[in-house]
Amino acid sequence: QWRPRPCELPSREEVDMSTVFILADFSGDKATKTTAELATVAARIGAVTAVVLAGSAKGAALAATINQGPIATVLVIESDDFVSHGVAASADALANLVKEKSPAALLIASHAFGKEVAARVAVLADSGIITDAVDVAADGTATQLVFGGSTTVHSKVSHGVPVITVRPNSVEADFSASSPAIESGTATISADAKKATVSSSQPPVKGGRPELTEANVVVSGGRGTDGNFTPVEAFADSLGAAVGASRAATDAGWYPHSHQVGQTGKTVSPQLYVACGISGAIQHRAGMQTSKTIIVVNKDPEAPLFDIADFGVVGDLFNVLPKATEGVVARKN
Ligand code: FAD
Repeated sequence: QWRPRPCELPSREEVDMSTVFILADFSGDKATKTTAELATVAARIGAVTAVVLAGSAKGAALAATINQGPIATVLVIESDDFVSHGVAASADALANLVKEKSPAALLIASHAFGKEVAARVAVLADSGIITDAVDVAADGTATQLVFGGSTTVHSKVSHGVPVITVRPNSVEADFSASSPAIESGTATISADAKKATVSSSQPPVKGGRPELTEANVVVSGGRGTDGNFTPVEAFADSLGAAVGASRAATDAGWYPHSHQVGQTGKTVSPQLYVACGISGAIQHRAGMQTSKTIIVVNKDPEAPLFDIADFGVVGDLFNVLPKATEGVVARKN
């Protein structure tokens, strides 16, 4: 026979004091805005600790650049193993931290490095993982857009500490100033994680343009450029935008593969995406259709990308882009 059971309310500590880890994201020696985005999402779940993995004596300077977003604590873990053993050492240290502290969740930026770290942490910590989330709710339910963005999936990790990678630019970040407490931790890195050594590495050559996956504005060129990206780059520069490319353009050798947007390239989610001379194949859409505003410049009015455009210009990009560039520059002056 059913009897009402006494209800045990969780203590205030249990409710309020859950800590969520984010892996602080850096470009060079500065925290990226993705760090603030991760913190914004994580703060819905609990008090945010940003974990900084740094080479010896490098942590304090990196931690000092984490000054935006709802971050309560910055936990600095220094080891030269992060430099010499790359992703394996980072994942090992993080997994050990997760096993030791059992945070409510671990959130990591959804780029190539972040996803590799996340996958390894999930395996090592025996946790469930969700990648490429575009949002995470207070109860840890993640939202993903799959099948080229045509389907929205809500899912929740049911085993272990949820490891979730969040796409840069997906959430509106809280950029309010913060001055988190700085703590230091020790890296526990197994011998297994040191089996491969990075013998040399070269940072990508950076032009003056923003990083593609983080940019607020992306201007992309496709086969319609016929190999001439000058108008695309000029328009991008007038807007302070990153330059992307379709696979047709990168396969032809017109633009580096590192700039390819799409299923087998990068996923971008900027405030504004301008597609120039790109038809709109499903594989291209997969990498850009979560952009907030989409402008399409194409001389074919039937180009499928017009279907998802907020604003379309039917015309030759070699006429349209220089005029648009002129207009933007004139407005700025
Ligand atoms: P096209 O489809 O040839 O379109 C060119 C467009 O330019 C046309 O619409 C034309 O009207 C327009 N145009 C021509 N001249 C002008 C002009 N002067 N002014 C304005 N418009 C002009 N593609 C990706 O982009 N990213 C991916 O990650 C990707 N991954 C793939 C993975 C797989 C497994 C496969 C099979 C394919 C993948 N593709 C990917 C390729 C994809 O299917 C398309 O072939 C590709 O996106 C086409 O690129 P495009 O739009 O530049 O070229």
